[in-house]
Amino acid sequence: MDAAREAGRDPVSITTIVVTKFHPAALVRDLAGLGVRDFGENRLQDAAPKSAELADLDLVWHFVGQLQSKKARQVREFARVIHSVDRESLADALASDERSIDCFVQVNLTDDPARGGVVPSGLDALVARVLDTSGLRLRGLMVVAPLGEEPRRAFARARAYSEHIRRIAPEAINISMGMSDDFREAILEGATHLRIGTAITGNRPDSG
Ligand SMILES: *Cc1c(COP(=O)(O)O)cnc(C)c1O
Repeated sequence: MDAAREAGRDPVSITTIVVTKFHPAALVRDLAGLGVRDFGENRLQDAAPKSAELADLDLVWHFVGQLQSKKARQVREFARVIHSVDRESLADALASDERSIDCFVQVNLTDDPARGGVVPSGLDALVARVLDTSGLRLRGLMVVAPLGEEPRRAFARARAYSEHIRRIAPEAINISMGMSDDFREAILEGATHLRIGTAITGNRPDSG
């Protein structure tokens, strides 16, 4: 909230997603009782049963992890938003003529392909592909701050990519960035969706 005001931004314009990976469904239920609606998960095998167990609550599930194309349809079944579309084959696998879901294109801000995300030189082609895919509504870009770089500098690059893609995707105005350790810097660079785990939930029970 303070960071939002410092950046001259209305806190209401920022969605906080509570990332509950490795935590039991009971914790999600408690948070929902406190008014949290947006939850994030990064692994299909944990998220699918958790969301099924909590189907009586009207929650918005965000999928934030790396996703294999062959699992794309299963993620579609419970997630309302996918933050990690990082290649054209995944966009193709997520296509549907039935129900549209929201998505973010993930951009890799490092030189390490294992960190996930499309390389910046491939961003325009991926954005164009998502725009051409039925059943996907492009909301914006997603990034994770690199290790060993000042997060604000990295987030400033993400902001520049976001401004760049709006020339071909004028509705893709959102930026999903900022975690427990760097959400203030993310807000200062225009984040609209924060993905916060440990700062809200405490340490994860089993990060293995
Ligand atoms: C786990 C995770 C988060 C939350 O991380 P914290 O440091 O616990 O806030 C955010 N984004 C992604 C993609 C994650 O996997």
